[in-house]
Amino acid sequence: MKPSKTNQTLLRNARIVFPDRVEKRDLLVRDDRIAPSDGELPSDGFDEIDLAECRLVPGFIDVHIHGAIGVDTMEADAAGLRRISEFLATQGVTAWLPTLVPAPDADYKQAIAVIGEAMKSTAGARILGVHYEGPFVNSAQCGALRQQYFRSFVNNDSLDSLPRLANPAAVHMMTVAPEVEGGIELVRQLKRRGWIVSIGHTRAEFEVLDETLTAGARHMTHFMNAMAPLQQRAPGPIGWGLLRDEVTCDVIADGIHLDRHMLELILKSKGSERLMLISDAIAAAGKGDGDYQIWGETISVKDGRTRNSRGNIAGSVISLLDAVRTMESLGVSEVDLAHMSSTNPAKLLSLDGECGSIEAGKRADLVALNAEKKVVLVMVNGEVVLPAA
Ligand SMILES: [Zn+2]
Repeated sequence: MKPSKTNQTLLRNARIVFPDRVEKRDLLVRDDRIAPSDGELPSDGFDEIDLAECRLVPGFIDVHIHGAIGVDTMEADAAGLRRISEFLATQGVTAWLPTLVPAPDADYKQAIAVIGEAMKSTAGARILGVHYEGPFVNSAQCGALRQQYFRSFVNNDSLDSLPRLANPAAVHMMTVAPEVEGGIELVRQLKRRGWIVSIGHTRAEFEVLDETLTAGARHMTHFMNAMAPLQQRAPGPIGWGLLRDEVTCDVIADGIHLDRHMLELILKSKGSERLMLISDAIAAAGKGDGDYQIWGETISVKDGRTRNSRGNIAGSVISLLDAVRTMESLGVSEVDLAHMSSTNPAKLLSLDGECGSIEAGKRADLVALNAEKKVVLVMVNGEVVLPAA
């Protein structure tokens, strides 16, 4: 990490993507925050970085990612998670939620201990907490998750046996299928404990989903993937997600999990305010094609498509930067892209008062993209992490 000469950096001449407009301006970063625009330039000196020809956007926030560069979040040690954080920062990701797949108690315990340790580090992208993908999900929509570790919610002990991060600021998120035994009560209990609840790996029917909404779940995990399909007499989770305005969705925009026209359809129905991007990347991300041992099986990657031994697609190998490029190729505006890659994830996690947009007082998690949409500068907490010193 590059130590700054001063605690103030002036970013010059960038086209800045604000929540409601794009404007060419200078932006002052003071300590770890974005300084007010009407403030005077500091007289005691500041670093200067020229960003002419660049677009400055809020750092991407990935709430669903299992690993990268050969490191899996279920098996990593704290140094491994830091390596993922450093890699993600090079892709413009400034915060992320390590995402856990269904596993035995001991594996969960180990993974949570490691995440807790890695959260103390300041290397690269910030680790915000944890996302449990399952274990209370539907075996009939398992995707690449291991069914033998799926659970049903019997009583509060079913939930309390899952380890939690000790850090009081840590985010806890869980993807659940509300139709599993005790599913609605599970959602209520999660909300009571302050968890973010997302609906996924599900075949729930409309009425159950409406009950789930009342219980406090209003987000859907990798919308359209690992869900019962939309049918003329069975709208299911996809019909529900498209129809209910209160519900937000995330999508894997890698060009493989969803046809481009499906992305267009979701965008048309949900709008940029209710749609966000995730990578759902696995440890093979950033490594290229090949065979990888992940989650106790061989997952092969060919031409950017993952496949497990059952022939199922098993996560992606993209970063949010790739997802942003995909959405931009569909004609999404720069302002809307910032909502989908940063502002909306921050809102989902109730961190939008703190980060997720370029506004005075917010954390200086910033990314500059050049005309070729390559990442040329990344700041996390006001520190330049790319280019490396
Ligand atoms: Zn996943």
